[in-house]
Amino acid sequence: MVINMLENKVAIITGGTRGIGFETVRLFLQNGAKVALFGSREETVNHALNKLKEENSNYEVIGLHPTLNNEKEIAEAFKKVYEKFGHIDILINNAGISSATPLTSYTEEELDKIININIKSVFLCSKVAVPYMKEQGNGVILNTSSMVSIYGQPSGCMYPASKFAVNGLTKSLARELASLNIRVNAVAPGITETDMVSALPKEVIEPLIKTIPLGKIGKPIDIANAFLYLASDMANYTTGEILQVDGAARS
Ligand code: NAD
Repeated sequence: MVINMLENKVAIITGGTRGIGFETVRLFLQNGAKVALFGSREETVNHALNKLKEENSNYEVIGLHPTLNNEKEIAEAFKKVYEKFGHIDILINNAGISSATPLTSYTEEELDKIININIKSVFLCSKVAVPYMKEQGNGVILNTSSMVSIYGQPSGCMYPASKFAVNGLTKSLARELASLNIRVNAVAPGITETDMVSALPKEVIEPLIKTIPLGKIGKPIDIANAFLYLASDMANYTTGEILQVDGAARS
């Protein structure tokens, strides 16, 4: 729904080139926000920007591709967003990768990759965002968690473990940053129709779908709507929350 819930707000959304992130970028733009989407490569960033501009040439959107485990590159990217739009109100730490690798087959390389993108990037982007938010006296940090952060998954243990860490960062930073008027929340999606899900093997996905009381997997817009609420002033008294958007799959 488009009711300009984010008029004049500036949002940075990591992993904004496709899936949940792209849908959130689009919904935020439709609701009056100015958005900087972060992606992993120039090519995919440009592709996403072109798609949005084709949809509405008035959208105020830019794209950047800092390495998300490199504090210096992140700081430079945030500076560019600030110089372009004049403030940074909302950060969504959404970029993430999943894994279904069994424990004994995990390589150290895969372990480091998951930690870097799913945990370290959340820490670093939040660290870089806070001085801007502190200066302006308010801010919102939102993280993409997962339903597997509640009860784990049968294979690929580092993916749920990384999302448990995201929940830990969400709850701890909510307390640490509350006095600065910065709210920190997470959305924990259930199985959602994106590339990430189509990359997972059938034997991981099918048993999960059977556990969903609403009887269907989610769509990226279902998750984007939750971000819209949490980013808006309607959620002014909500912080430290992990909002499960999963068709009750957890129960
Ligand atoms: P996706 O694979 O469609 O998109 C992932 C995004 O992350 C892309 O924009 C990609 O560019 C970015 N990204 C990945 N690796 C990166 C890197 N090294 N550097 C910078 N950016 C990188 O997946 P999605 O399903 O839209 O996932 C988005 C978030 O939602 C992730 O954090 C994921 O863990 C979470 N999530 C997804 C589901 C689901 O079922 N799809 C469920 C729960 C949680």
